[in-house]
Amino acid sequence: MLNHYQHFPGFVYEKARHCAPTQTIEITVRPRRGSKPVCSGCHKPAPTYDHLNLRRFEFVPLWGCMVVFLYCMRRADCRACGVRVEAVPWGVGKHQLTKAYMLFLAHWARKLSWQETAASFRSTWDKVCQSVEYVVQWGIEHRQLGPIVAIGVDEIQYARGHKYLTLVYQIEQQCTRLLWIGRERTVESFEQFFTLIGEELAGQIEFVCSDMWQPYLKVIRERCSQAIHILDRFHIVAKMNTALDEVRAAEARRLARDGYEPVLKKTRWCVLKRKANLTKHQRFRLRDLLHYNLQTVRAYLLKEDFQQFWDYESPSWAGKFLDEWCCQVMRSRIEPMKKIARTLRSHRELILNYFRAKKQLSSGVVEGLNNKAKLTMRKSYGFRTFHVTEIALYHVLGKLPEPDVAHRFF
Ligand SMILES: [Zn+2]
Repeated sequence: MLNHYQHFPGFVYEKARHCAPTQTIEITVRPRRGSKPVCSGCHKPAPTYDHLNLRRFEFVPLWGCMVVFLYCMRRADCRACGVRVEAVPWGVGKHQLTKAYMLFLAHWARKLSWQETAASFRSTWDKVCQSVEYVVQWGIEHRQLGPIVAIGVDEIQYARGHKYLTLVYQIEQQCTRLLWIGRERTVESFEQFFTLIGEELAGQIEFVCSDMWQPYLKVIRERCSQAIHILDRFHIVAKMNTALDEVRAAEARRLARDGYEPVLKKTRWCVLKRKANLTKHQRFRLRDLLHYNLQTVRAYLLKEDFQQFWDYESPSWAGKFLDEWCCQVMRSRIEPMKKIARTLRSHRELILNYFRAKKQLSSGVVEGLNNKAKLTMRKSYGFRTFHVTEIALYHVLGKLPEPDVAHRFF
């Protein structure tokens, strides 16, 4: 039966034993008579040198039982490499788990948290981590990087928000995936991405999408000067919301201090959420609020007014609108909003590139990918180190190729 389950040329299953107390199926494997071990250095057959002690390899569980291969590894006397441990088709290097089992665990680790995966298959967090690591490493070695037409770069907070990672995504309609992860969000870290892909691939990139973070802008200008650089809509809206929130919080404090009615209490989401997403209660609150002559209200109206900007088709009309909006804001005497207007003005061309590239790029892709990245990190507490965070993100978002096993188990 097991020969149908998975067949390895050169090896035979000798006997299977069910060990009831531990719910384990132990399968003894031995080399086919007359077969030679394969050298793990050069992958060529060589004469047997000697046998090592019995080793256990964990295989994919069957009917709720653990499955273990028992095998005495041979050492090969290779003419080219010397005495080497043999390479076996079900295992990799010193791993205790078989390839098939690592693929199996890694597959589930994409759907469940690593902790849940370990618990479901009576394994451990460390073994799930090893499995994901193996699959990701294999995938990175075998993936094809180019051609790359459009990339998006974004930062993400990790380690309880104390540190940043730089993530680079490919954001084409046919292919959206995580290409690269770097520590920090500095010029040096982002430059490593361009070193990875090389000048030729970098020269073919047509669109780059980013936020207004200076080091990113600088690297894109230098390494990707031929591409249309787009400032991401999502980031501009987010910046505006931050400014509005600042205005609201400061004004609420001022009203409280001067002994006025606390009209701004519990209005945070009324002004920050999109109108269409408000609850009935929030809609009423907002309608009330708009009767007051408050900075918050004026700032809110400016923000709402700006929404129209994204509906333009032509860059020149959009540019006109942008200029007028900025003028109006500069007269508003609301400092946080004025700061936004100044930022928009100084990045005018990059923002208008949004319209120049609109036809080719689906906006919001970066945002979607980043949300998925945040979710991956939230789901799994254990990701304290950069390395583990890195492989977890590649695993979920990298669309990496996977090693082949003779049989698929899922
Ligand atoms: Zn060899």
